[in-house]
Amino acid sequence: MKNIKGILCDLDGVLYNDSVLIEGVIDSIKTLKNKGYSFLFVTNTSGITSEELFDKLIKMGIPVGKDEILSPPLAAYNYVSKMRYNNVEVLGGTSVRNLFYDNIKENTIDPEVIVVGDIGKNWDYALMNNLFNKILNGSKVVGLHKGKFWKAADGLRIDIGAFITGLEFATSTQSVCIGKPEKAFYESAIEKIGLSADELLMIGDDIVGDIQGAKSANLTAIQVKTGKYRKELTDNSPVQPDYLIENFNDLVGLLIK
Ligand SMILES: [Mg+2]
Repeated sequence: MKNIKGILCDLDGVLYNDSVLIEGVIDSIKTLKNKGYSFLFVTNTSGITSEELFDKLIKMGIPVGKDEILSPPLAAYNYVSKMRYNNVEVLGGTSVRNLFYDNIKENTIDPEVIVVGDIGKNWDYALMNNLFNKILNGSKVVGLHKGKFWKAADGLRIDIGAFITGLEFATSTQSVCIGKPEKAFYESAIEKIGLSADELLMIGDDIVGDIQGAKSANLTAIQVKTGKYRKELTDNSPVQPDYLIENFNDLVGLLIK
């Protein structure tokens, strides 16, 4: 851990559950920042834009800079623009839809590409069947991430990865995914924070998105036992975290002896 200069830090399940802060994390971030560690908050939260996420974190009292957040909506927008798609359908919150529709034509009839983000409880059979038929007619799918489940204040909830995978299965197609655990997402995080892989650690609660993703990009990976951590999922994972700690606050002791 001597080389470590920067911390890629997941949000949900590490610093808070839903919107309830985990005790002590604000002081721990301040301590680490005061010791000179750089931070980049990397999250698959994709129902809102990075700017809205920034406002949310500030309101919670988390010391974060506007440029210290990397989340999938902007990365997906950059991808769709780069691929020169002319029209798009976006499943996501208002701000995420606007991010695309401000610059790319909205098409909900036969879109060239369907961007799938977080729409909470709005998933149902009618929507899945609608998407299924569009994909069969040629629409491509770009998923903001492929999370299996997440932890809300009242328990675990199924995530969009399950719906995207279901659509892939039913249509025998493959989607493009943007967020964690994609190696490309970690590479853009490494580029954004401006340090090399051996100077960085990733801390998260998700054995796949955070730990396997970080290891695929050759980062030191630390898993916390908060949020959606489940012992059996970690025990059965082919990729293991370098360190397993109780919660984010234990990172201070790990880095600062
Ligand atoms: Mg998490």
